[in-house]
Amino acid sequence: MNTEIPDDAVCWQAVQTRDAAMDGRFFYGVMTTGVYCRPSCASRQPLRRNLRFYRDAASAERDGLRPCKRCKPRDPAAGAEAARIAEVCRYIETHVDAKLSLAALAQRAHLSPFHFQRRFKAIVGLSPREYADACRLKTLRRELRAAPSLSDAIYGAGYGSGSRVYERIDTRLGMTPAEYRAGGQGVAISYACGQTPLGQILIGASDRGICFLQFGDDDASLIAALRSEYPQARIAAMAPVRAPQFHDWMQRLGEHLAGRRPQLELPLHTRGTAFQLEVWKYLQTIPYGEVRSYSEVAAAIGKPSAVRAVASACARNHVALLVPCHRVIRGDGALSGYRWGLERKRVLIDQERATRGGR
Ligand SMILES: [Zn+2]
Repeated sequence: MNTEIPDDAVCWQAVQTRDAAMDGRFFYGVMTTGVYCRPSCASRQPLRRNLRFYRDAASAERDGLRPCKRCKPRDPAAGAEAARIAEVCRYIETHVDAKLSLAALAQRAHLSPFHFQRRFKAIVGLSPREYADACRLKTLRRELRAAPSLSDAIYGAGYGSGSRVYERIDTRLGMTPAEYRAGGQGVAISYACGQTPLGQILIGASDRGICFLQFGDDDASLIAALRSEYPQARIAAMAPVRAPQFHDWMQRLGEHLAGRRPQLELPLHTRGTAFQLEVWKYLQTIPYGEVRSYSEVAAAIGKPSAVRAVASACARNHVALLVPCHRVIRGDGALSGYRWGLERKRVLIDQERATRGGR
């Protein structure tokens, strides 16, 4: 181990380029998440001002930082592997139009397809196919706003056929591209109210998923909030036939709030501007028990100067918990605002940290 670490500018450059050649020369800690990484780590890019550089793992841990689960800074073999997988990520990003076979990608990482698939998922959090889809989807979102027609946008984003993109998008954004362009009008929403440890909630759902989940003081004000969120929708109380489903959702929410179900996998069908959807989608990738700053979110979606817009998209979230806007705090660690009250935000963050720490 070298005793000198390179100067800050060199370290920062290495982090930005995920330079595997610098692995072992230093580690970087992300103050907002409490995690430290190798320079080549494939996780999302941190902000410069939240970083601190360390000579070795021990000094990072003396500052109270935990080793990253992706790049495993204490495990020498994992470092080389993580660097090769980061390299494959960059390859996928720059080849969204190409047909990428698992075998070919695995070869780039010098791994068997089976092992590659598993390690990629462990390090990146998505399968290689999902990652390629996400890159394509990102291009498509941009194209949808700019392209003269839907099919131009679809072909421009590297999708071979129109029907395939409809299938994919339906499960990700909860909306078809046509609905997306039309602002999600004409949806039928049914609702029901229930009690949670954090207070009264109302769940509103279309036939495809939950489009509204909010805390409030009483049913009447929650129903009014639902109507103002979806002024164009046909809104009615949930039919008895959907009661078992509502009961199941409530049970999952209860378990989630009690720390027994970190992954709240409920169907989501929400509506927002392209920018809001992009922010909300990113919020869903923040792991249970972690937090991000508004500026980290802005950087992660590729719009580092849009910090205020990110904060406002968080404040406009109408699906509490499913889109975990409570995991976004100010850069200095202050909780900042929460649409449903700071006290609830504090309870949620503390509960998640305690649950994760206890495992
Ligand atoms: Zn890492």
